[in-house]
Amino acid sequence: MTDVEMLCAEACRIAHSLYARGKTSGSSANLSFRIGDQVYITAGGSCFETLCPEDYSCLNLQGDLLTGPRPSKEWPLHLSVYAARPQTGAVIHVHSTYSVLWSCVPGLAQEDCVPPNTPYLRMKVGKVNLVNYAKPGSRELFDAFAEQAFRADAWLLRRHGPVVPGETLTQAYYGLEELEESCRIAWELRNAGITLE
Ligand SMILES: [Zn+2]
Repeated sequence: MTDVEMLCAEACRIAHSLYARGKTSGSSANLSFRIGDQVYITAGGSCFETLCPEDYSCLNLQGDLLTGPRPSKEWPLHLSVYAARPQTGAVIHVHSTYSVLWSCVPGLAQEDCVPPNTPYLRMKVGKVNLVNYAKPGSRELFDAFAEQAFRADAWLLRRHGPVVPGETLTQAYYGLEELEESCRIAWELRNAGITLE
């Protein structure tokens, strides 16, 4: 197996697991990994439930399609992360429920927008910043995201969902899970009227 084949297979396993546990639905999620100056990203309209090795587009770091099907329309988010954080090997973006719910809370700070109710978000992901709402797929969203890409370790797109990078696919996957759980805890505590001292 080549490196590309191995990483495609690993990315498919992660996608299937995220879908099976309700962290994404339909064709809304996308993920990518980088090998050198090539980025492999899930194709537009592909579904994490059935993701297979034919569902990856290969782009260069400028966003030109080298091989494969049309990429997810959210590909500029991924390329902004690779440009801002050279150590990044993979990026995952979903529309998972609790991250989206938390991103809708009024008055969130832009910096560190998820409260550190447990130490794990900070330990496993780092600083999470909020990206102002703009229409999905719009230049406005991509520009707002590119500006934030340098300023945090992961991001919540307001009323949209999380974007989490990692040095490896597994690290991005675990980071995404940690962010989703942290948003769930923050959401449940808020609904219960509990403020930690
Ligand atoms: Zn999205």
